Amino acid sequence: MKTILILHTGGTIAMSQNEDGGVAPSSANPLDTFKNPFIGKLNLITEDVFNLPSPHIGPAEMLILEKRILQAASEDVDGVVVTHGTDTLEETAYFLDLTVPNDFPVVVTGAMRSANEIGSDGLHNFQTAIQTAASDEAKNKGVLVVMNDEIHTARYVTKTHTTNVATFRTPTFGPIGLVTKNRVLFYEQLLLNDYHPIDHVVNHVYLIKAYAGMDPEMLEFMDNEKTNGIVIEALGAGNLPPSVLPALKKLLARKIPIVLVSRCFNGIAQEVYSYNGGGIQLSNLGITFCHGLNGQKARIKLLVGLSANLSTTELTDFLSDAVS
Ligand code: ASP
Repeated sequence: MKTILILHTGGTIAMSQNEDGGVAPSSANPLDTFKNPFIGKLNLITEDVFNLPSPHIGPAEMLILEKRILQAASEDVDGVVVTHGTDTLEETAYFLDLTVPNDFPVVVTGAMRSANEIGSDGLHNFQTAIQTAASDEAKNKGVLVVMNDEIHTARYVTKTHTTNVATFRTPTFGPIGLVTKNRVLFYEQLLLNDYHPIDHVVNHVYLIKAYAGMDPEMLEFMDNEKTNGIVIEALGAGNLPPSVLPALKKLLARKIPIVLVSRCFNGIAQEVYSYNGGGIQLSNLGITFCHGLNGQKARIKLLVGLSANLSTTELTDFLSDAVS
């Protein structure tokens, strides 16, 4: 019989709505009322790691989860389910994807409606996440996100709606599987990525978004010895207004890694345009194009690469790799 370790971290899936309509953490985790439908089929071990709304979760908490999961992978555990608030779920899931071996099933899930709201999705997502983690096919898929009966990769999934239960989507590539009434069905293969178990996390890795007429001041504020790295969500295929070029050049002269993704919801940032501020020029300046990730994922990847002490060349390869 397989053993699945469940790590609760909080989020709406562990919250209840009070009389005034506000949703907040409750002292008793509503997931503890889950009547295990897998008795005799799966051995479930539950640990309450945190009880935090996910905007309170950052790299320090992600590191605690990574360490617990690496330990579980060396024990008699066949897979892990992490329950998590949905706001930063994609970041924690991708952090784990980059730090835990690809062949160890880890599934992250959450809920859009708290336990006592009508149509609450928590217990259903929880159950389907356990089914997925226990599936033989969940191996070698990296970290997965299971919500609303869909299986997404941690690498590409993103929260797309503030409240809809179908909020988790994978733009450009789509989900890689489904949880049906009878079975867990994978219909895509995933190109696996390098992973780097890390034992600390660096700070001061920033994420900013480009906009028409972008002011250079924000980049100028980052021109100091504290800054470890910057991710910019650039315009379109990967371009920036010329107004920010002088500030960018100063940051690059300081050897601060600058990574570029697109602020577009779909598609891949690429070096296409050769005009002033165009992607070709940015790439020639030494900015690294990160192909296919959104801004928050690229920031996690840069943070993991820096925390793994990758050399400048290794870091560039790690970030620009089109598949991982
Ligand atoms: N704000 C909540 C959180 O991320 C949202 C949720 O869990 O759905 O903790």
